[in-house]
Amino acid sequence: MSSRARVLVLNSALGPLDYRVPHGMSVQPGSIVIAPLGPRQLLGVVWEPERMPSDAEVGDNRLRNLVGVVDVPPLGEPLRRLIEWTADYYLAPAAAVVRMAMPSSSALEGVKTITEYRATGEVPDRLTPQREQALERIGDRQGLIRELATVADVSDAVIRGLVKVGALEALQVDIDSPYPLPDPDHHQPALSPDQRAASATLVANVAAHEFHPTLLDGVTGSGKTEVYFEAIAEAIREGRQTLVLLPEIALTEPFLKRFTARFGCEPIAWHSGLRSSQRRRAWRAIATGQALVTVGARSALFLPYANLGLIVVDEAHETSFKQEEGVHYHARDVAVMRGKFEGCPVILASATPAIETRQQVALGRYAELKLPGRWGAAEMPAIEPIDLIQSPPDRGRWIAPPLVKAMEETLARREQVLLFLNRRGYAPLTLCRTCGHRFQCPNCTAWMVEHRLIQRITCHHCGHLEPTPRACPECGNEDTLVAVGPGVERIADEVKALFPEAKTAVVTSDTIWSPAKAAEFVARMEAHDIDIVVGTQLVTKGYHFPNLTLVGVIDADLGLNGGDLRASERTFQQIMQVAGRAGRGAKPGHVYIQTHSPDTPVMRALITGDAEAFYAAETDSRREAGAPPFGRFAGIVVSSEDKAAAQEIATLIGRTAPQVDGMETYGPAPAPLAMLRGRHRFRLLVHARRALDVQDVIRTWLGALDWSSKVRVTVDIDPYSF
Ligand code: ADP
Ligand code: ZN
Repeated sequence: MSSRARVLVLNSALGPLDYRVPHGMSVQPGSIVIAPLGPRQLLGVVWEPERMPSDAEVGDNRLRNLVGVVDVPPLGEPLRRLIEWTADYYLAPAAAVVRMAMPSSSALEGVKTITEYRATGEVPDRLTPQREQALERIGDRQGLIRELATVADVSDAVIRGLVKVGALEALQVDIDSPYPLPDPDHHQPALSPDQRAASATLVANVAAHEFHPTLLDGVTGSGKTEVYFEAIAEAIREGRQTLVLLPEIALTEPFLKRFTARFGCEPIAWHSGLRSSQRRRAWRAIATGQALVTVGARSALFLPYANLGLIVVDEAHETSFKQEEGVHYHARDVAVMRGKFEGCPVILASATPAIETRQQVALGRYAELKLPGRWGAAEMPAIEPIDLIQSPPDRGRWIAPPLVKAMEETLARREQVLLFLNRRGYAPLTLCRTCGHRFQCPNCTAWMVEHRLIQRITCHHCGHLEPTPRACPECGNEDTLVAVGPGVERIADEVKALFPEAKTAVVTSDTIWSPAKAAEFVARMEAHDIDIVVGTQLVTKGYHFPNLTLVGVIDADLGLNGGDLRASERTFQQIMQVAGRAGRGAKPGHVYIQTHSPDTPVMRALITGDAEAFYAAETDSRREAGAPPFGRFAGIVVSSEDKAAAQEIATLIGRTAPQVDGMETYGPAPAPLAMLRGRHRFRLLVHARRALDVQDVIRTWLGALDWSSKVRVTVDIDPYSF
């Protein structure tokens, strides 16, 4: 009798399928196998049949044979439970969740060695200055051509040139050769009493090998990283693995530096820029347990760690942990679930924890550790409002006189300034003065944003680009286009006009698009090669510049418009984070926030520093409205290139909405972005009591309906966009 295996086949929209396991092949739950599907051979994962019902039972005689088993450890039980939980909670196909845990098939097979390069130590004379600088930046790093080029911020050709002249040599690295092991005692800093108390608790949690979620709530600059490094050191001593999740790939580079200073070597960095050979090497080292510390963005969460001993989510309040495409999951919440299934502690580190997280603490589900003061001599900066009605900027300007004066004084002391405006580009809207024409994206319900640095207008939602027009396409008049409102580029122009002697840099995702660019920015700041930074949210987190003493928030009211239920909280977090960049060293910091309404609760909380009062009021109003974390929302978005088709299905879903006690359905209505990347979008919003199993209701509701393949229906549980 031949045996059967139930397999979740990746890259397939089908549910689990059954296969025959041929003689001599042995599989178990979690085994990664190669399965035939039609004419193709696809990767799949073997699953317990009782946990993954199949839609179509197939008789033994019609089963196809599995083609092979991939030579990697099977996905472990805790990860399989996590995959099931994620699929269930976020109403996503299990195969789509499994896919996040797997490298592509090319990364599992093929090459046995990777060719890496490193300096030979011999520097030929007459190197070009560019090659010389590249060699210096590479130092004793070893890596692929592409990696070294990234580190040195040069083209691949420059690296190849260095190989040719003998300054770099090639090495064959076995795909299974071990990564260097971090040394827990490499450089242990002396901790402050607060830091010591917090780290002792975290270390004990790691040693206990138990699920133990903890909010590490410390003001900006309190040394949260140093504290959770002690917990990582303990996990390393025990030979157990740590996963550190960061909200943004731009933060990886500074993290790697600090980690190396503390532990003597780099951790595994998992990100989308990895080549398939590296991906394969890292994946295997993680799956065998050899790689002890992995740092990455959301996608590192589903890797097959062999013996996870600790999970850290840094800047845990960040909304970028919420994935808005494919499986709509929140990495912070899934990280906690992973800790639960693995039986290991989870640390959520933040200076401005989300209300959801604070509520978990209030309910006693998460422990809380506080670091109330900054490390060393640094003090928290003073925050002052600038009332834009009383002290307006000059016409056509955006920086108000009190802030200009503070900038003058700061520059005179040879200290650095950060101006924050969360808007990329030159101006958010371009219109024709003659006929009123506005430039709209052809694919999205969004205005085109002018970017003067690249002389283009672009859509921030789909990336559509056009040369900045000289004439109005509507009325044909030339020189009548005007930029409306400021973006960071426009503020930078104003700064240059005000302080022509100062060195100004714009920091946005347009200028810092790689770890190398981030490293370059950090180096320039540290060398004081920049006096004034004008930046978006990208500069608000993680960075530590001791000589930066003045922060100016250009438009504190910006995030408060719109119907987002988290608008006040997000504004508070964002401004606290950007304020947290000021005065992190021995010199005191000052923060000015420009606002039209200094009397709103969020502005008052920022100015008085009374975070608790703000959170209490905000929590109360959420409770009253039944908003998260007291009630829950789910979005159902129906989209199609064919507007009528999308509308028809959205209407059908709305009409068949179940009558359930404690649940209300709103819509359908055009989604907040009514058109996105050429697809028309309608949305229904479900609002439910916390105790209601809203996923179950939606599963039954949508499961009874049918629609054509040109319509896509996505469910967003605990949505972040409203
Ligand atoms: P946070 O993440 O809480 O904002 P960081 O961990 O970035 O704070 O610490 C702020 C700065 O203080 C960093 O430069 C860090 O190296 C330094 N620091 C914190 N604690 C210590 C310590 N115990 N010994 C030496 N330096 C420390
Ligand atoms: Zn667009």
